Amino acid sequence: MSVLSLFRFHFEPSLQPKISMRNYLLALPLFAALTLIGPAGAAEKTKDHDHGHTHAKKEAGPNGGRLLTALEPHAEFLVLPDRRVQITFLDAQDKPVAPGNQIVVVTAGERSAPTKLTFALDGAVLRSNGPLPAGNDFPTVVQIKVNPAGRFVTEKFNLNLSVCPDCKHAEYACICAEH
Ligand SMILES: [Zn+2]
Repeated sequence: MSVLSLFRFHFEPSLQPKISMRNYLLALPLFAALTLIGPAGAAEKTKDHDHGHTHAKKEAGPNGGRLLTALEPHAEFLVLPDRRVQITFLDAQDKPVAPGNQIVVVTAGERSAPTKLTFALDGAVLRSNGPLPAGNDFPTVVQIKVNPAGRFVTEKFNLNLSVCPDCKHAEYACICAEH
């Protein structure tokens, strides 16, 4: 177990809600020893914890969109300037690849009256046949089948088009850790 994972274990109890007080106390001397061995790393990590997040970045899509990681390999979800959605399929290194027989359905907007988008091949990507509904920060469900006989993989998120002040991506594609 690395120093880092030990820190996560003891200082982010939300990740390990079932940790017992007994285990915690047993691990304290070990933790103290590791702190002495690596004071610089330990201090840095504690500082990060104090303000609630680390500054590690998540990976961006190749066009600055959101990586859909429920799918392996991944795909990128990008909102175009005309509010249509572009889906780019990626290889294992997250590099764009030509679409195959994938089927994509996006359902977006307030749940009482969502807009359903279907997709068609446009060059080396899929683009939605219509635009997203008006507004901002609405629930969005992306369903992708890798082939017509397969099962839909679903990814849900809030489509917030505001720009993140930290990473300058749109919030839906924000790469800041824990945003
Ligand atoms: Zn950000």
